[in-house]
Amino acid sequence: MPISEFRKHGYTMVDRIADYLERIEEFPVLSQAEPGWLTGSLPDASPDTGEDLGDVFADIDRLILPAVTHWNHPNFHGLFSTSGSSVGIFGEMLAAAFDMKAMLWRTSPASTELEDVTLGWLRKLLSLPDVFDGIIYDTASVSTMHAVAAARERAGLEIRGRGMSGRTDLPLLCVYCSEHVHSSIDKSCIALGLGTESLRKIECSERFEMVPERLAEAIEDDIRAGHMPICVVPTIGTTSTSSVDPVDAIADICEKHGIWLHVDAAYAGPAAMLEEKRGLFKGWERADSIVLNPHKWLFTPFDLSVLYCRDMASLKQAFSLVPEYLKTSDEATVKNGMDYGIQLGRRFRSLKLWFIMRYFGREGMTARIRDHCRLATLFASWVDDSPDWERMAPVPFALVCFRACPASVDDLDALNELIMNGINASGEAYISHTKLDGKFALRLSVGSIRVEERHIAKVWKLLNDCVSAAANLSL
Ligand code: PLP
Repeated sequence: MPISEFRKHGYTMVDRIADYLERIEEFPVLSQAEPGWLTGSLPDASPDTGEDLGDVFADIDRLILPAVTHWNHPNFHGLFSTSGSSVGIFGEMLAAAFDMKAMLWRTSPASTELEDVTLGWLRKLLSLPDVFDGIIYDTASVSTMHAVAAARERAGLEIRGRGMSGRTDLPLLCVYCSEHVHSSIDKSCIALGLGTESLRKIECSERFEMVPERLAEAIEDDIRAGHMPICVVPTIGTTSTSSVDPVDAIADICEKHGIWLHVDAAYAGPAAMLEEKRGLFKGWERADSIVLNPHKWLFTPFDLSVLYCRDMASLKQAFSLVPEYLKTSDEATVKNGMDYGIQLGRRFRSLKLWFIMRYFGREGMTARIRDHCRLATLFASWVDDSPDWERMAPVPFALVCFRACPASVDDLDALNELIMNGINASGEAYISHTKLDGKFALRLSVGSIRVEERHIAKVWKLLNDCVSAAANLSL
């Protein structure tokens, strides 16, 4: 593409993105497309000759937009409400232009060093000690898998070289987490050959927090049985309810037995920037590794997950492998990203984080996260004050779990599922659900960079309209 054409289309593209963000509230939050609609609307082979880019852009409106679920919509409250800032989009554009593959420092000094700088800044904002080094991966699932691999490596069982299969000298290697853990921990155990049976899901309190006494008992039982505990994964901000496992007490147990402590703060991590939330993170500074996702709650377009690790040597030991064609003379003096994971080439993800941290500053980032917590607390107060609704879990961050419970309805699970499906089908907002103590609970997450009080008020009205309508149904 000639540069003059790139410039012309580039301006159009920026206008399109600006229009999209400006008009985002006009779109249904959840795509209303049926499965297979897009596939059926597209040819089954690519064109033989190049097409006019204007035609491709037109198809964005015609074909792609109807099949988009708008994560950037301020009324996206399902799962965790995540959103990309405009300035983060600029970071992505430039990273695509540089098209850097940060494997070696030599092939990508800017990416390698900016990653260290931004993660050093972030570590300070989170008040984590500087014994932690950071590395960026795509997702928390991948960050956690690398942490568990490092824990397995530190156990000193020569698994890197000798593997696990066919070995009679290996004990069962056990990983511990709460029953509310994210499925990515199970997947780490699958991927690393530990098996899901080695994952011990520890009982939680009525606040959905891991009970440390049960953890200590499980570890002691396993040791007595000849097994080897290698890693404990508490969560700060669980997926279902955003509950907080007692990391400090768990750290005592890990310390006693010499077990790797990996903290999953994928969602809630950025809230550690708030002075008033710091108590919820007590003990995480004692971890061996911590994961948090700027792509969840730090306005960073997907993807960017940070793994902080106290013992980068174990991570390097687990993954470093330098074939002849990647040998450089500066290995001893520089950091080569490829040494710390499965991937060889790595995207220049720190660029967008650097843009975001500089554009918003600490004050801008904390003000937004604080406001999300305020809005969630406000919504929770409406739930608490209404006889037709009840709260299902505490609200430590910006997620509210609740359900409708009007006296006239018997089957509350059916009612709440109906409410959720009704709201989501309307396109006005997106909420999701979980099951708590066997009961169907609605989840409202507040985390979009574009969310305001009016959006929360809109959901509250939609919910109450649904309850009034349900009064006429016999449930
Ligand atoms: N950990 C927690 C607590 C989560 O809530 C999630 C996703 O919501 C993950 C891990 C996985 O995140 P990712 O999509 O970055 O792998």
